[in-house]
Amino acid sequence: MNDYSSAEERLSRLWAPWRVEYIRHSRKKECVLCTAPAEGDDESTLIVHRGKWNFILMNAFPYSPGHLMIAPFRHTADLDGITREESNEHYELVKLGVSLLRMATHPDGFNVGLNLGRVAGAGLDQHLHTHIVPRWLGDTNFMPVLSNTRVMSEALHSMYGRLREVLPHGIKEARAD
Ligand SMILES: [Zn+2]
Repeated sequence: MNDYSSAEERLSRLWAPWRVEYIRHSRKKECVLCTAPAEGDDESTLIVHRGKWNFILMNAFPYSPGHLMIAPFRHTADLDGITREESNEHYELVKLGVSLLRMATHPDGFNVGLNLGRVAGAGLDQHLHTHIVPRWLGDTNFMPVLSNTRVMSEALHSMYGRLREVLPHGIKEARAD
């Protein structure tokens, strides 16, 4: 164990019992990063924002409240295979996601990153996505409070509302850069 693995280590130490449900779901064949945007109901599928090539989605089985994922619309696991346009916008949406979470939830910090391949912890290893996990001092202690599925779903939808509320400010800020 060394410092290089510490971000992943800290994530795995977050007690997130609802992720058992996620592991059950992920055995299904369909790719949620393809089916969610295709459904066309962004509120129920927790899509916060659509770009031209990528979108921002709330993780329904989060490591912490506000856990976002940025994914290309195109179903690909190949980081080298994404176009410059897709890649540039992907990073723009990572920045937008961080900025929305800052405005909506004032976290103390973030874990941001890609898990490539199942061995690296990617639950959806066939469709690229960047995680943004907001972190609060002491969050390992308060997360288990949300372990109940119904409470979790309410928390997700109220967080969705907050993120959508600050979205116009986030987009305006990003354009001003
Ligand atoms: Zn997919």
